[in-house]
Amino acid sequence: MNEALWLPDDELSADERAFARELRAFSDDKLAPHARAIDEQRTFRREMVADLAAAGVLGGPLPTGVGGGGWTPLQLAIAHEELGAVCGNARGFCAVQTGLVTQTLYRHGNDAQRRRWLGPLMRGEAIGCFALTEPDAGSDVASLATRAERQADGSYRVFGGKHWITNGGIADVMLLFANVDPSLGHKGITAFVVTTDRDGIERHAMPGVDLGHRGSDHAAITFDGMPVAADEVLGPIGRGFSIAMSGLAAGRLSVAAGAVGVHRRALAESVAFTTGRAQFGQPLAQFQMVQERLADVFTALHCSRALVYRCARRRQQGNETHADVAMAKLHATEAAAAAAEHAVMLHGARGYTSAFPVERLWRDIQALRIYEGTSMIQKTILARMLTERAK
Ligand SMILES: Cc1cc2nc3c(=O)[nH]c(=O)nc-3n(C[C@H](O)[C@H](O)[C@H](O)COP(=O)(O)OP(=O)(O)OC[C@H]3O[C@@H](n4cnc5c(N)ncnc54)[C@H](O)[C@@H]3O)c2cc1C
Repeated sequence: MNEALWLPDDELSADERAFARELRAFSDDKLAPHARAIDEQRTFRREMVADLAAAGVLGGPLPTGVGGGGWTPLQLAIAHEELGAVCGNARGFCAVQTGLVTQTLYRHGNDAQRRRWLGPLMRGEAIGCFALTEPDAGSDVASLATRAERQADGSYRVFGGKHWITNGGIADVMLLFANVDPSLGHKGITAFVVTTDRDGIERHAMPGVDLGHRGSDHAAITFDGMPVAADEVLGPIGRGFSIAMSGLAAGRLSVAAGAVGVHRRALAESVAFTTGRAQFGQPLAQFQMVQERLADVFTALHCSRALVYRCARRRQQGNETHADVAMAKLHATEAAAAAAEHAVMLHGARGYTSAFPVERLWRDIQALRIYEGTSMIQKTILARMLTERAK
C-alpha cells in the first residue's frame, strides 16, 4: 500500500515533515502498544502523561519564553493528527491539558498563576481539567448555574455542579466557570483556577459505560460551599464567558486535527484489510462498491486536512476567523465519523470486535462531534456569520 498518498508529508516543509515523523515514531513506540488495552480495561494510564511530557507534547504549544516548545499552530495540528491516528485517549488528554487548560492559563493567568501552574502542567506533574459543562447547561453554557458567592473578605464560596469533565476525577488543578452575579446573566460568569484538594468538592465517575475514550477520566463534580480565594480568579471578574469561548475556539483546531488522524487510520485499516481479504475469488478491494468507498474516504481525508491546515496557517498569520475553525472541526469530525463507519462495514464481522482497531475508531470519534461545540453548534456559528454579513 502506498501510504505516502494519505500521509501529510508532501504538503509540509522539510522541518515540518521531520516533526511529523518524530511524533509518528513517538506515537507508535509509546502509545500504540497500550491503546487497545486501556480501552478494554477502561483505565487511565498515568505513565502516558509522563511519556507525553518527556516527548515535549504537553509543553509543545506554549511559547519558549515560558518553557514551552513554541510550536506553530500547524505543528499543533500535525501533532494531534499523529496522536489521533494511534490513541484517542492520549489525544483527548492533550486536547484538555494543553488545548484548554495550559493555553487558557497562559493567555489569561497573571504572573503568579502562570508561575505556579504552567511548569507542572507542561512537565506532567500536575493534571488539569476545564470545568464548564453542567447538567442543565451544555451547548447553552451562558446559562450555567454554578454560583460563586462573594464573601465579606473578598473570597468566594462555590455551589453547584459540573459533569462530563475530562480529567475531572484525577485533576490537581481545575479551571472553573461560575457565576458571581446571576442577575447579570452571562456577564456574571467568572473563571477561577483552583486546586482540587479542598473542602466542599466531590468528584465521581460519570454513571454508565462511556461509548468511547474508555481509557479517559470523565467526572461529575459537585460544589457545596467550596472556598475559593480572591487571588484564584482567572482574568477579570465577569469575563469568564469570553475566556471559555476563546479557549474552546482555540481548542477546536486540535480536535479537528485529531479527527483527521482518526480518518487517516480508518482509511489505512480499510485499505490494508480489503486488499488482504479475498471473497468470490478476488480481493475485496477489486469490487467497485468497495473501491467507491475507499475513494470517497480518501478524497474526504484531503478535504479535512486542507481545512485544518488552512485554519492553522491563518492562525499563524493572525487572520483566522471563527468560521475557519468551525468549518475545520465540522468537516473533519463528520468526515472522520463517516470514514470510521465505512471501515467497520468493510471489515465485516471483524469490524465488530476490539481485536481490530476500527470499532474503537468508530466509538471514539463520536465524542469529537459533540464536545467543544457539537456539529450543529458549528453550523449555527457558520450560518450566523453568513447571515450577519448578508444584513
Ligand atoms: C467524552 C466527552 C468529554 C467531555 N469533556 C468535557 C470537558 O472536559 N469539559 C467540559 O466542560 N465539558 C466536556 N464535555 C461536555 C461537552 O462539551 C457537552 O456534552 C457538549 O457541549 C454538548 O452539551 P450537552 O451534552 O449538554 O448536549 P445539548 O446541549 O443538550 O445538546 C443535545 C443536542 O441538541 C443539539 N442542540 C443544542 N442546541 C442547539 C441549537 N442551538 N441548534 C441546533 N441543535 C442544538 C446539539 O447539537 C445536540 O445534538 C465532554 C463531553 C464528552 C462526550
